[in-house]
This record gives sequence, C-alpha cells and structure tokens, in this order.
Amino acid sequence: MRPHASAHERTSLQLRVRGLVYLPGDSAYDQETAAFNLATRHTPDLVLAAADADDVAAAVRWAAERGMSISVQATGHGAANAITDGLLVSTRRLLDLDIDPEERTARVGAGIRWREVVAAAAPYGLMGLHGSATDVGVVGYTVGGGLPLLGRKYGFASDHVLAVEVVTPDGVQQRVDQYNNPRLFALLRGGKGNFGIVTAMEFRLFPAGELYAGGIFYPGERAREVLAAFREWAPALPADASASLAFLRLPELEDIPELLRGRFVMHLRFAWQGTAAEGQRLLDPMRGVAPVLADLSGPLPFTQVDAVHLDPEHPVPVREGGMLLNELDEALAEALLEVAGPDSNAPLLLAEIRLMGGALAAPAAPSSHGDHVAGRDAAWSFFAVGVMMPESADVVPAAIAAARRTLAPFGTGGTAVNMHGHVESADDAARAWPEGSRRRLSEAKAELDPQNLFRHGHAIAPAVPGPAPAF
Ligand SMILES: Cc1cc2nc3c(=O)[nH]c(=O)nc-3n(C[C@H](O)[C@H](O)[C@H](O)COP(=O)(O)OP(=O)(O)OC[C@H]3O[C@@H](n4cnc5c(N)ncnc54)[C@H](O)[C@@H]3O)c2cc1C
Repeated sequence: MRPHASAHERTSLQLRVRGLVYLPGDSAYDQETAAFNLATRHTPDLVLAAADADDVAAAVRWAAERGMSISVQATGHGAANAITDGLLVSTRRLLDLDIDPEERTARVGAGIRWREVVAAAAPYGLMGLHGSATDVGVVGYTVGGGLPLLGRKYGFASDHVLAVEVVTPDGVQQRVDQYNNPRLFALLRGGKGNFGIVTAMEFRLFPAGELYAGGIFYPGERAREVLAAFREWAPALPADASASLAFLRLPELEDIPELLRGRFVMHLRFAWQGTAAEGQRLLDPMRGVAPVLADLSGPLPFTQVDAVHLDPEHPVPVREGGMLLNELDEALAEALLEVAGPDSNAPLLLAEIRLMGGALAAPAAPSSHGDHVAGRDAAWSFFAVGVMMPESADVVPAAIAAARRTLAPFGTGGTAVNMHGHVESADDAARAWPEGSRRRLSEAKAELDPQNLFRHGHAIAPAVPGPAPAF
C-alpha cells in the first residue's frame, strides 16, 4: 500500500492548480471528502477542491505522472464504496449553468445539481431529465445513463446529451460529441467515471407543460392487494406514463409526517406529463385498491418534482443494492413480498420497483454511435436501501444480498450502474453494463486508461492486467 501523501506532494500539486489541496488532518479535508451516504467515509491521500476545468486537467496529469489513482466527487450521492487512496477531485465548485431557451439546451459544470437546472429552466417553461431526487448531481447521474422520472416518455438522460467536456486519463481536455471523438462520446454515456473527469456537459431540455404527479400511501399490511393491483395497472399505462411502488419502513423521525412516522407503508408513485383530467383518470384505478393513508398526487409544478418520490433530503448512513427485473408475474410478486412484505423482517428502509419500458426500451439513436446504458431490456428496476445504524449495520448488507438472491431468478442478470449500489467485486461491478458492452468497455479501459487510474467505485476492469480495481 502506498504511504499517505506528504506535505511535499501537496505542495507539488498545489503549485499546479488554483483550487486548494487538502491532506488528512486538514480542517477542510473532512468537509471536502464527505459523502451524502454517511456510511461511506472517503479517505483519499489528497483531495483537490478544483476551481475550474484547467485545475482538473492539471491534477489528472499530476496524478498520472505518479501512477496515483484518481476519483471524482460532486455531491457524494453515489458514494456506494469508500475511496481509500489516491487523489480525489472535488468538482463541486464547477458551477457554470447556461440555459439556451431558443435551442432548448443547457450546459452545466460538473458541480451542478439537478435542482439548479430545474430552477433555471422553469422560467422558460423548460425541464430536464432528472431522476427521483433533484439533489443529485447532473454529471454523475448522466454518465451512469440517468434513469429519469419521466424516462418512459423521453428515454435515458444520456440519450439527450449533446456534448461532453472531459479530461481523459492522460490529462487532455476534450470536447466530444457525435462528430468529434464519437467513440469516447459513447463511452461517457453509461460508462460512468471510468474514462476521465467530465468538467461540463451540454444536453437537451424539453417543454415542461403540465405535470400530474405524486404519491399515494397505503398501509403496509395491505401490500399484497396493492401489489396485485399495481402489477395489472402499471404495465397497462400509456407508454409515456411513469410509475413505481415502494415498500417503506419509515423511522420515527420528526421530519416524517405523523401519519407515516414509524410505520410500514406502501408508496405508489406516479408521473404523467399532460392534463390534470387525464392524469387523474389514469391514476384513479389505484385509488380504491386498499385504504389510502394519504393521497399526495395531483397537478404538480416542475419545481416541486421531489414530492413524487420523497427521497431523503438529508445525508443518511445507508447500504444500497439494485438489479434489473423481467415481467412482474405472480411468482415475482410473491418473491417481492418475501423480500419486503408484511411478514418479512428484513431491515430495509425502502424496497422499490420502477416500471421501465416505453422510451427506455428504445435503442440509442444510431447518430449517437451507441452507448453503454443498461436497462433497455428490463421490465422493472429494483432498488433496496437499508439504514446502517450501529444496531443494524451487521444485518443490512446481508438483507440486501438476500433480496438480490431471492429476486435473481426473475432478473435480467444485469443492474443499472446508477442503481447498482455497493460493489462487491470486479465481477459484481461488471453486471452494471449490458453484456454486449462489457468487452468493449473493458478494451477501451485498457487502451484509454492504461494505468487504470480511475479504478474506484463502479470501475470496469481493463481487458489487460493492470492494478486491480479498488472497491
Ligand atoms: C436520493 C437519490 C435518488 C436517486 N435517484 C436516481 C434516479 O432516479 N435515477 C438515476 O439514474 N439515478 C438515481 N440516483 C443515483 C445517482 O444517479 C447516482 O448515485 C449518481 O452517481 C450520483 O451522482 P453525483 O455526482 O450526485 O454523486 P457523486 O457521489 O458525487 O458521484 C458518483 C459517481 O459519479 C461519477 N461522477 C461524478 N462526477 C463525475 C465527473 N465529473 N466525471 C466523471 N464521473 C463523475 C463517478 O463515478 C462518481 O464516483 C439517485 C441517488 C440518490 C442518492
């Protein structure tokens, strides 16, 4: 193992960059390395608070000269595995945000969260393809494909990327698109952080129009009836309507409404871009399937889209795991009840299934030279989260592994990298890409990152031996 970075190394990097470099023990180190997932504590040898894209390029060159591993963090929402060595580049100060209302495009720096795009696009009547929580970073989400709230209507967020500004593992800054270095452009749409650090990204926006969306809560004891109705109703929705269903075991926390606090509930989520009358008509069949604890659905301004999934707003210590599933038949419904239903004692805060299909099933446009996004062949995406408190930390990882095992016979065999969760091994990480992509990604990795510098987290192993991925 490499010894921790020295003051000399810090100075050597600091002389090349404008942003500040911190070592373990510096007062700002903990803040700069902190992840949203409090169960993950990153301990890189050094962290650079990059001031701009030139800083990122200089830092990558500096680390490459030393064969030092490089990782990147914007919001820390994707901190499934701890970064334990090397240089961490923090992009949270790369805050460019330009909306072109005429062209309906946005260009964002790597530190921008979806919330900022939502707010900047709304005055022009536009919206972007964010997921369930707008606190998530645009770039980290989109390089993982990006499964949007309205994905069944528009497809993956990465389907609508127009250009990517990236620092490759050799420290070179490039702007790639379908004409300029189309191979790298394809690798950056789904290949996650394997091929360098994205400093900015340009993508399409869409007319916002009206949104009918939100959630309905049912008592968890009625899970069987709710799930039975849901599995008939959801797949019959129009191809552009989105739905998901979560088994939630909510903690006794004050910021959770009293009605739901400390309870086991089923949470149906629905999103439909269209008139309120039509949205209501589509959702109505689910209103009578079981007693309703709370109905929070209705016309929703785009600036309040976080109200659909109600993901946690504050950092929580969690372990996550996901997988892609085939049809939700009776046997899969039984398996889901076994994993998270009323008789399950699994310590899962959330176990959800999201309806895939619609535009998510369409292949990437030929003009984009393909991509590396998983999930186009899946009917459902499954995701489980457990809270890692001292009393549960021993049992949560086993519960997530058990859920994956129980559901495996119903899975596609793959996962979506953004919803993969904790990485157990190189083979496990490889499941996060479509089978046809794995070989191409692995070969590209060996060629474009010959020192395997970007080897943390959701890392694809290079086709030729290099330093083993660090999970
Ligand atoms: C509450 C919540 C809700 C979510 N909902 C959805 C959803 O609906 N759909 C969906 O698809 N995903 C969803 N995710 C997953 C999310 O997209 C991923 O965790 C994503 O990696 C977060 O990116 P980040 O930059 O915010 O996080 P970070 O932890 O800062 O980054 C995570 C990873 O993204 C990559 N990355 C980040 N910045 C760069 C960069 N500049 N260049 C290259 N690679 C980079 C790296 O691999 C990095 O390790 C959700 C996550 C959370 C916590």
